[in-house]
Amino acid sequence: MKVLGIETSCDETGVAVYDTDAGLRAHALYSQIDLHAEYGGVVPELASRDHVRKLLPLIRQTLAEAGLEVGELDGVAYTAGPGLVGALLVGAGVARALAWALEVPAIGVHHMEGHLLAPLLEDDPAGRPQPPFVALLVSGGHTQLIHVEAIGRYRLLGETLDDAAGEAFDKTAKLMGLPYPGGPQLAALAEQGRAGVFRFARPMTDRPGLDFSFSGLKTQVLLAWQGSDQSDETRADIARGFEDAVVDTLAIKCARALDAAGGDTPACDTLVVAGGVGANKRLRAKLQAMAEQRGGRVGFPRPAFCTDNGAMIAFAGALRLQAGQHDDASVRVTPRWDMASLEPVVSEKK
Ligand code: ATP
Ligand code: MG
Ligand code: FE
Repeated sequence: MKVLGIETSCDETGVAVYDTDAGLRAHALYSQIDLHAEYGGVVPELASRDHVRKLLPLIRQTLAEAGLEVGELDGVAYTAGPGLVGALLVGAGVARALAWALEVPAIGVHHMEGHLLAPLLEDDPAGRPQPPFVALLVSGGHTQLIHVEAIGRYRLLGETLDDAAGEAFDKTAKLMGLPYPGGPQLAALAEQGRAGVFRFARPMTDRPGLDFSFSGLKTQVLLAWQGSDQSDETRADIARGFEDAVVDTLAIKCARALDAAGGDTPACDTLVVAGGVGANKRLRAKLQAMAEQRGGRVGFPRPAFCTDNGAMIAFAGALRLQAGQHDDASVRVTPRWDMASLEPVVSEKK
């Protein structure tokens, strides 16, 4: 089954074709970063308009790269939420219209389920992590630990009470004068910084529980930065101290979640990590080491599929379409959407 995936929830237009027999056939991404940079954040109306401009050319490009005619598609998947309502409607409208014209089924995908399943996209089906496992979702808008009982059956174990991890990276970068969006740049700077010169708290690790809080860390960085010589070297050292604090905190909670995930059953040994912060090299190394030490495994998407992309939507949609699920013909999006309300995926064929 060849499924076109469309992602337009925020400031990235992502398109891909996932083939349930041959894997990922092609993918393309257009990022609106330059468009929003002068405003220091995403401007929703500008985002919607740019999706309108870019989506059809990207679909044509992706189909050409996949060597497919549009009529060869068996289904269309699109991000139906959560996200910016105008941006979502662009993807939903195009996806529904295309599916209707081609007389193929369409399905609205939960953006965070897309992120969550992205680590599974890499492996051939035999090597994929099998539920139950624990997922760490660390993106620009979410920081969640989820017990994945089955594909589509998600139980929230803990989440951030304030800033998301990616948001903390972006805001911390901004307060040290790095240009928008600063998260990846802060991480690059941390590579040059020395460990231990600045040490920040590992928030909420001193008490039981799986929730996070990252907004206090940002304030600690602000105070350290204001009281420093503000040299390039110091900026790098602070970046390193901040990154180490976030990475340690996430690793501590992941270990706890793996211990707790089973409830009455034995602890879980598989972790998957997704969302933009999952591209962070130090986080990947730390979680890899933790998993090895526990005798378990950890799965990540390739760095390009940690942040928003069409491939994860094509993949998540393909799993649901393959299981016989699809939506009716109305164009509906859900800007706020609880992932625990999703239907489980029960495969029709093995
Ligand atoms: P959501 O999926 O929650 O709606 P989003 O789609 O904006 O949010 P993603 O695209 O998954 O989030 O990820 C973007 C975030 O990832 C940004 O906050 C960015 O700073 C962060 N990020 C990207 N690369 C890195 C990195 N190497 N280290 C740390 N953070 C990173
Ligand atoms: Mg983005
Ligand atoms: Fe995202």
